[in-house]
Amino acid sequence: MTGSDEGGRRARRPATGVVQAGRDPFAHHGFVNPPVYRGSTVLYKTLESFEKRQARYTYGRRGTPTSEALETAIAGLEGGARTWLAPSGAAAIATALLTFTKAGDHILVADTVYQPTRRLCEGPLARFGVGTTYYDPTLGAGIAGLMRPNTTLVYTESPGSLTFEVQDIPAIAAAAHAGGALLAIDNTWASPLYFKPFAHGADISIQAGTKYIVGHADAMLGAVTVTEPLAQTLVAEAGGLGICAGTEEMFLGLRGFRTIDVRLERHWRSGLEIARWLESRPEVTRVIHPALPSHPQHELWKRDFLGASGLFSIVLRPCAKPALAAMIEGLELFGIGASWGGYESLVLPFDAARTRSATAWQPEGQTVRLHIGLEDVADLKADLEAGFARLAAASR
Ligand SMILES: *Cc1c(COP(=O)(O)O)cnc(C)c1O
Repeated sequence: MTGSDEGGRRARRPATGVVQAGRDPFAHHGFVNPPVYRGSTVLYKTLESFEKRQARYTYGRRGTPTSEALETAIAGLEGGARTWLAPSGAAAIATALLTFTKAGDHILVADTVYQPTRRLCEGPLARFGVGTTYYDPTLGAGIAGLMRPNTTLVYTESPGSLTFEVQDIPAIAAAAHAGGALLAIDNTWASPLYFKPFAHGADISIQAGTKYIVGHADAMLGAVTVTEPLAQTLVAEAGGLGICAGTEEMFLGLRGFRTIDVRLERHWRSGLEIARWLESRPEVTRVIHPALPSHPQHELWKRDFLGASGLFSIVLRPCAKPALAAMIEGLELFGIGASWGGYESLVLPFDAARTRSATAWQPEGQTVRLHIGLEDVADLKADLEAGFARLAAASR
């Protein structure tokens, strides 16, 4: 990567950006980090200034120097104009969908989205008169055939939850825009570092900050980022919905953000090394990792992404449930649990067929999602290898 020269000033690289963004030490007596502002009421000196809301910050829910610091940092790294923080990734998705749809609209949603996104479409959105059609995430430009006159939003998630289909975002964005619709993306997997949604045609990007931004499995956080033309609407609607993140959570988001570049590089490198090793294991029939040449949309990943995170899935040779349990329950370094993006490794068996309606999912055997944490790769391999030995013993 080379830094470009803009007006004589070299554009800074991401590793520098994540350290610098949203910080102004001398606005805070020289302290390196912005303090946590806890506040609801903001005081005004005069009646007139209160009536006209002449203040940089008007009310706790509408933003504080703490929220502004993290919002500025995320917007900058994703390449959007404005970010609004939400109390969770799910709340960020709800904020985006409720803000940018209205009764009578039709939206297109990738069949492989994060499952609670579907619940949102089938619950509140349906109740408020927004219709959803789920589509094959690998459709690319073919999405044009699903656009209706009232299609106002195309929702993507790339790669898809659990099964990691990479979407052709520029082609889908072009089709969406040609039909007068907005392009939204859940960009959590790549984090704001490894996929630049706005450079690829997105209008709205969602981050489950809970994952790699917080990065330590110790807080829930979400972010919606939009382009300039949508910024005012986002701020007005999210504020009206009462969406605001907790002060401690925002601080933890800022804390995590400072190290996202070094952490992600390690998640990427370790994840890929283990993915390659798993491809050579007789117990594994398929490794689903966008950065592997065997991945069906590997070329798209290579074209559009700047890196990979530590999350991918494997398909095991068919085995009985007790054998799978013996393998997984005995793991010492991989915890069984939802969520991911922390420093620790995780393992999660899943059944993606239950959360699809527009595409088939018939894997050869049990499917398992892995999050490769920051532990030593040799130790992680040894742990998995012992797991495979338990699997074999229990299958005999
Ligand atoms: C975890 C996750 C979410 C939801 O985030 P929460 O903070 O857990 O609400 C949304 N999208 C994706 C892709 C996720 O992995």
